[in-house]
Amino acid sequence: MEQLKLLTPGPLTTSDTVKREMLIDRCTWDDDYKNLTQSIQQRLLDIAKVDAQNYTSILQQGSGSFVVESIIQTALSPTDHILIISNGAYGKRMIEMAYATGKNVTELNLPYNEAPSVGKVKQLLEKDATLTHIAVVHCETTTGILNPIEAICELARKFDKKIIIDAMSSFGGIPIEVEELDIDFLVSSANKCIQGVPGFGFVIAKRQSLEQTKGNARSVSLDLYEQWSVMKDSGKWRYTSPTHVVAAFYQAIIELENEGGVHVRNERYASNNQFVIQSMKRLGFEPYIDNQYQSPIITTFLYPNQNFDFDCFYEYMKKHHFVLYPGKLMETPSFRIGNIGDLHRQDFENMIQHIENYKLKE
Ligand SMILES: *Cc1c(COP(=O)(O)O)cnc(C)c1O
Repeated sequence: MEQLKLLTPGPLTTSDTVKREMLIDRCTWDDDYKNLTQSIQQRLLDIAKVDAQNYTSILQQGSGSFVVESIIQTALSPTDHILIISNGAYGKRMIEMAYATGKNVTELNLPYNEAPSVGKVKQLLEKDATLTHIAVVHCETTTGILNPIEAICELARKFDKKIIIDAMSSFGGIPIEVEELDIDFLVSSANKCIQGVPGFGFVIAKRQSLEQTKGNARSVSLDLYEQWSVMKDSGKWRYTSPTHVVAAFYQAIIELENEGGVHVRNERYASNNQFVIQSMKRLGFEPYIDNQYQSPIITTFLYPNQNFDFDCFYEYMKKHHFVLYPGKLMETPSFRIGNIGDLHRQDFENMIQHIENYKLKE
């Protein structure tokens, strides 16, 4: 089977060395494996720029959404009240999870091409003193918009609210000073900017905030506090962990470090993202998100004209070993190009060449 280049925001194209780690079977109770888990926990704290005295990391089985649900379950008590800011499908999903788990919710729903304004959030915080938590997505992968978490974290601190950040598609690819921003819980997963394969996610948690969450969860397997109780000193996961995925993730972290860390990876992503946007504009494709809010992770492009046949375009690109990502906008036909993963300038130059050839043929 031919290896395709995945222009998707996870699962994404991983290196051969990351894939190779999955050829070895490992035992979950063995010390080597528990050490591997503990090493990952420590390295995640380093990536988050936090002090291990104040912060801890918890790994949780499942795709990213399972981990978002586990933190919504666990962080909020029956009397807590969360403001969830949404300008995309992932914000909406958090709202759905908060209702499904019986939490007290206030929604701030915005158009998908609009970043949350500090004024609006401030107004809601001033109006309702019962709010205890705020949740927001960093990079809304639905469109590729990058939300201003720095300003929202500052508000959270000023109003003394706890803050949950869904940094699924940004952590490891965009620098986030978790301790400086005073973030309580930050969620991400193995198969996004750290460039591992899917199977688990993780939370970077402020110890003081996590310690207050015992007994909140109304789920056994998604109780992040209990997961942490078992993992914190032993490196032992509750229940079977995805051993192959964990080993591949460790290798992916080493490769992130070898690349030069988050800043250097961010430069690669940002430079390739701008190359793609400029080249696509030249070929008649307009991005949906205004450039000042555009993330370096994934870009939504509008169809160039009414006759544009995405399925045909998709098949053509796949035949040339590139997999595009369909759009997720309700009102406007669109598609997306992700640029995270083990992809480099030459790959994007090849991709653009194929798109140009397709346009000429059209
Ligand atoms: C990928 C992603 C998730 C999790 O999605 P899964 O399909 O469950 O892995 C959550 N939030 C954002 C912003 C994402 O990009």
